[in-house]
Amino acid sequence: MKAYPLEVLSNVQVSERYWHMKVDSTIIDESITAGQFFNIKCGEGELPFLRRPFSIYRINREEKTIEFLYLVKGSGTVQMTKFVPGENIDVFGPLGVGFSLKEEWDSILLLARGVGIATLAALAQEAAEKNVKCVAILSARSNNDLLAAETLQGFGATVVKVTEEDGTSNVENVQRLVNQLFEEHDIKAAFTCGSMRLSRLMQRSAEKRGIPGQIALEEHMGCAVGVCYACVCDVRGPHGINSVRVCKEGPVFDLEKVVLT
Ligand SMILES: Cc1cc2nc3c(=O)[nH]c(=O)nc-3n(C[C@H](O)[C@H](O)[C@H](O)COP(=O)(O)OP(=O)(O)OC[C@H]3O[C@@H](n4cnc5c(N)ncnc54)[C@H](O)[C@@H]3O)c2cc1C
Repeated sequence: MKAYPLEVLSNVQVSERYWHMKVDSTIIDESITAGQFFNIKCGEGELPFLRRPFSIYRINREEKTIEFLYLVKGSGTVQMTKFVPGENIDVFGPLGVGFSLKEEWDSILLLARGVGIATLAALAQEAAEKNVKCVAILSARSNNDLLAAETLQGFGATVVKVTEEDGTSNVENVQRLVNQLFEEHDIKAAFTCGSMRLSRLMQRSAEKRGIPGQIALEEHMGCAVGVCYACVCDVRGPHGINSVRVCKEGPVFDLEKVVLT
């Protein structure tokens, strides 16, 4: 991993709160896996002092571009909206451990909420490339926030949308959908990102059926390279619970091992 000056090809607002950015990744000479992330320098000034972490939304290997989908939250992401095509931005990565799709997993279920959808989209892309059947439940505040659904459908995924706006995103309904989709699609592995509540639901549901899974965690990060220990989480190991760094040992972990609080 290293810092690359990557040319912005496009950076556009795609809904009220979300922006989509495509950068030229020709100079990245390392392999990039779904679930990994880049730490982006958001502006030229002193603030924000720290880079901000963003998962890879889409990897276009032939075109040699990568894409990010980001929610505008605070000072860093507001500054990112000012990136313009032709500008070189400072992108550090690829960082962390990504998803791994085992060969025997021919049918997978994704459960994503909010910006977690950006992280799981790259997995849906990888599933499509490997001919793995992909079913996704995408949860958001409003339909307006679910633009990524089209991207997943473009990868051939079956997508079920739930939103606060439609009154369908409550835990009971998501639980019902998870149960139904596990059965209907003979799911072999479960993946989740973006909500503790939904991740706990997925963890319990997968565990009950003996289905393996993976979770991508999003913790506040300092250095993002394993030095500062700002982003630790707990995972169960053979000798008890260990505190590990989300940026280094993660952000993707085995679903059954993570202690979700
Ligand atoms: C591995 C990883 C991958 C990520 N991928 C994406 C992505 O693909 N798309 C996307 O939109 N966002 C993603 N995020 C979240 C993104 O990094 C934060 O939203 C961003 O850093 C906010 O920066 P800001 O300066 O705009 O807001 P800040 O001013 O830093 O924060 C604004 C508000 O958001 C909260 N916040 C900031 N960072 C986080 C976080 N990591 N988790 C929870 N709350 C936070 C703060 O507490 C504050 O309330 C990812 C985070 C991680 C750790």
